[in-house]
Amino acid sequence: MNYPVPTLQRRAISGLLFVIVLILVLNTVSTLTYKRGVEQLEQQGNVRLELYINYLEGILEKYQSLPELLAIDKKLVKALLNPTEHKRIETLNRYLETINKVSDTLDTYLMNKDGLTIAASNWNEKHPFIGRNFSYRPYFKEAMKGKLGRYFALGSTSSKRGYYFAFPVRKDDEILGAVAIKINIDTVEQKWADRDENFLVSDPDGVIFITTNPEWRYKTLGPLPATTLKRITESKRYPDATLTPLSDTIIETSDKRQIFSVEGKSKAQTISVLKQSQYMPHAGWNVHILTDIRVVKKKIILIDILVAAGLFLAFFLSIMLMQRQQRLAEMKKIERQAKIALQDANEQLESRVLDRTQKLTEINKLLRKEILERKQTEIKLKRTRRELIHAAKLAVLGQMSAGINHELNQPLAAIRSYTDNGRQFLQKGRLEEALWNLEQIGELTERMAQIGIQLKLFSKKSSGQIVAVPFHGIVDGALEILKPSIKKEGVNLAVKIDPEDLEVKGNHVLLQQVLVNLISNAMQAIEAQKEKIIDVECVEKEGFVVVSVQDNGLGVPKNFRKNIFEPFFTTKKSGQGLGLGLTISDRIVQDLGGHITLVPSSTGARFEFSLKKA
Ligand code: ADP
Repeated sequence: MNYPVPTLQRRAISGLLFVIVLILVLNTVSTLTYKRGVEQLEQQGNVRLELYINYLEGILEKYQSLPELLAIDKKLVKALLNPTEHKRIETLNRYLETINKVSDTLDTYLMNKDGLTIAASNWNEKHPFIGRNFSYRPYFKEAMKGKLGRYFALGSTSSKRGYYFAFPVRKDDEILGAVAIKINIDTVEQKWADRDENFLVSDPDGVIFITTNPEWRYKTLGPLPATTLKRITESKRYPDATLTPLSDTIIETSDKRQIFSVEGKSKAQTISVLKQSQYMPHAGWNVHILTDIRVVKKKIILIDILVAAGLFLAFFLSIMLMQRQQRLAEMKKIERQAKIALQDANEQLESRVLDRTQKLTEINKLLRKEILERKQTEIKLKRTRRELIHAAKLAVLGQMSAGINHELNQPLAAIRSYTDNGRQFLQKGRLEEALWNLEQIGELTERMAQIGIQLKLFSKKSSGQIVAVPFHGIVDGALEILKPSIKKEGVNLAVKIDPEDLEVKGNHVLLQQVLVNLISNAMQAIEAQKEKIIDVECVEKEGFVVVSVQDNGLGVPKNFRKNIFEPFFTTKKSGQGLGLGLTISDRIVQDLGGHITLVPSSTGARFEFSLKKA
């Protein structure tokens, strides 16, 4: 599992890495720069050393043939042969003085074969060489062997440094003595001083006798063994010189070069120097050049600063770049997440839309099915309603049949008795009374015919004709049907029509049927009452005819009020009611644009409906 590295920790790690890389790079750069710098210094040093050696050789060559020239001078031979001739020696002294001046040497002198100086250019000075013996000097010894003697030493009387050349003076093949010259070394040092580098010349023992830094004079390049030191002291070559080593801290040493630290031109300053050496075979000198390597160190510091600055810059740039890339990656991630979320939301939406569409389609299908069913039900209902209305009519008819029976039986009985009476009156010849009886029979049949017409009308299916109908006629028709029952029950029925000629838009027969129903219900409701009162009212109100039927019964119980208009709802005993009366009546009134309601009243029940005035 990948745990995210905290930013701070990551920064610390990259910082640490950077420091390590920086150290490694700087170390490598420093090493390379040092190596290259030292190599460059070496190249420069070689050139300069070459120049210096050329210069030294030039000087030595200039003087080395001078003793040889002097040696062949007859004056010197004669003086050696006759050392006691003062005049001759004096002349020679002057001669040597002149030569010395002209050739710019320090001293010029002549020694006999024992090394005793018999004539010298400094004859006139405070400490002349004349009478002094230099047989111990190596240059004399060399000359006495017949060779050119050369030697560096401090003057034993003058304490002045000098380089000596000596050549044998011969008479035929016999060496009579040696002529020597001493040349000034100081000029050699002065000419090459004040440079960045120092030049040294050391003898075969390693003692520095020529140096552009006076502090280093008579120091040794390395520590000398005791025997060598003893030998040098005995040779009086460098009297009073301490012969201490120039440096005891060698930093680097190889065949080609040596680097060591040494005191600089001022004592307090210690510098690291590169030493390069070359041997001058004729003179037997070791010539050295010491170059201060501070310039290389400065260069290293400068390059290190530049490289470090470059690395820092690169580090910060890369950090910035990394941060930028990180930010970009984060932004891309967020974008991707947003895209995915959007896609998800889209897909969800699409699936929901699909789901909804499907549901809606299903609901639609169901609705269509329901509409179809409703339509079919409506058709069925309409048919059923028509049939029911008819059935209800038949039911009313049944109800009425008792009354009709009574109504028809009464006149029939009366007709029978009138017929009997008529026959008896005819038999007795009482024609007038017989005629009256016949007239009564006629009236009774007329009345019976009226009942028949009413029943026919009622049993007919609705004609559906809507016309202006006088209300009076409707009420009269209904009462005519119910008259027998009203009379039988002793109902006090009051009718109020205001105004008298009130007309409604409707169907005579159907409205009559509604009234018959409402009044029949009222009559049934007051059956148990002592005083039976029914009020039928038809009054005009704002362009409408308000019809009400009120009784003084017990009213409709509260818990039945919402059910009484439902088909087949009845509280009556079987055979007394079908529970269709109010349903059919309300349907008829609705068809005419009204609605039957049970209106609250102080006593009994009050049913009301209003229709448009014709
Ligand atoms: P039915 O008369 O055959 O029962 P209706 O639809 O005419 O059917 O009446 C439904 C019911 O309404 C009756 O059974 C009765 O309980 C109640 N009702 C109708 N008219 C009245 C009234 N005037 N007083 C009291 N109850 C009534």
